[in-house]
Amino acid sequence: MNYQDSIDQQRLFFNTNSTKNISFRIQELKRLKSSIKKNETLLYNSIYADFKKSEFETYTTELSIIYHEIDLALSKIHKWIKKRKTTTNLTNLPGKSYIIPEPLGTVLVIGAWNYPYQLSLCPAIAAIAAGCTVILKPSEIPSNTSTAIARLINQNFDPSFFKVIEGGIEETSELLKIKFDKIFFTGSAPVGKIIYQAAAKHLTPVTLELGGKSPAIITKDVDIQMTAKRLVWAKFLNAGQTCIAPDYVLIESVIRDKFLIAIKDQINKADYNVNHQNYTQIITHKHFKRLVSLINPNKVYIGGDHNLKERIISPTILKDVKFSDKIMQEEIFGPILPILTFDSIEKAISDIKTLPKPLSCYVFTKSKCIKNKILNEVSFGGGAINDAVMHFTEQSLPFGGVGDSGIGNYHGKYGFDTFSHYKSILQKPFWIELNLKYAPYSAKKLKWLKWIIG
Ligand code: NAD
Repeated sequence: MNYQDSIDQQRLFFNTNSTKNISFRIQELKRLKSSIKKNETLLYNSIYADFKKSEFETYTTELSIIYHEIDLALSKIHKWIKKRKTTTNLTNLPGKSYIIPEPLGTVLVIGAWNYPYQLSLCPAIAAIAAGCTVILKPSEIPSNTSTAIARLINQNFDPSFFKVIEGGIEETSELLKIKFDKIFFTGSAPVGKIIYQAAAKHLTPVTLELGGKSPAIITKDVDIQMTAKRLVWAKFLNAGQTCIAPDYVLIESVIRDKFLIAIKDQINKADYNVNHQNYTQIITHKHFKRLVSLINPNKVYIGGDHNLKERIISPTILKDVKFSDKIMQEEIFGPILPILTFDSIEKAISDIKTLPKPLSCYVFTKSKCIKNKILNEVSFGGGAINDAVMHFTEQSLPFGGVGDSGIGNYHGKYGFDTFSHYKSILQKPFWIELNLKYAPYSAKKLKWLKWIIG
């Protein structure tokens, strides 16, 4: 296993400056879109083979997001790559100051398994728009999907520009020995630390898109039915295997029982258990066993049924959960929703803050005061008010974590920025020069300089 040649080949290509050409970037973004369009059936079949993800969910949560990212990049790239003029201070006049976005170079994108297409390809789209060459390492866990991505890219792109390398820990560890100009990683915090350490050896900048326990806070004045409907969708989408899924609910005690009834009603309406049209499998037996071990049978309100052969865990709601319970010690990442209660918002906030900073936070309330208090006092990557997960679809919003939930962000223009360096330039003409800064120094020169500089 020697990947050095692949990276050297990409560096050589990057140094031809071809990727800096806007027509090249547009052509390659279009190539990516048309290759995906032509291979949609392969992509649907591969992900279904891996964890029975339906065409409906694959389109809405994977392919449509990829298409939107490409379309946005194509429509905005002329603006994004423009040199930006800035102000110039008195001492540098009549010079000009400006900023030039330049591509970072040859980058490595490492994907996670839960949304295998968009978590691999959206960072790649941003990197291509920024003018980088890309090595993409998708997650090996959904093996059919990984092979499909490799086929899609390696059959349609010049490997000196965009290449997929498949593999798991061993292959990724080899890749990490090589110097890249940027590493974009999506995955767990423990692996994020390994990536960060490997990157530090080469002073390579990283973006780490990690996870965490994202709370949904519900106050007593909400529309209970609508809150339950939105939360049930957000939690059981992809069988809860979503980095920004509401991990747990913190609800004001007085409405808890009504909310439990509403949530049961919404789960029944969604018909999750009947077939895989509406509900994906748990990705592997290992993940299945970990999730089942988190279900305390004494706390099950509904659900808790599981079938190892089918890798299905029914939508499970746990009640009377405490922050000290086992399920509150790690990111759940599956179809189990613990419900905790609070009587004062101050206590709810202090409880949330005992856990690491989450990737998302959802606030369901009609109270402006409580909304503002949470936004002001709780640190998290991003989130929504009176909704969950949908902020991910807003391309105008940067997507990323803070603290333990990640470093950096992407989506839309933020993705372009993530793979760019902003080069600052001061440009001077030859015809004039203020002599005050030059030696020999004098009190008179200093007086003038103080007047000019301030
Ligand atoms: P993971 O960290 O196990 O794996 C992610 C990638 O790292 C894979 O490509 C894998 O091959 C590679 N990898 C695994 N172990 C490695 C090692 N020891 N050395 C080098 N590379 C290694 O994560 P996962 O199980 O694929 O995804 C689940 C986690 O990712 C959850 O915590 C979830 O919240 C998070 N996640 C975050 C986002 C986000 O956008 N912030 C999106 C999806 C998932």
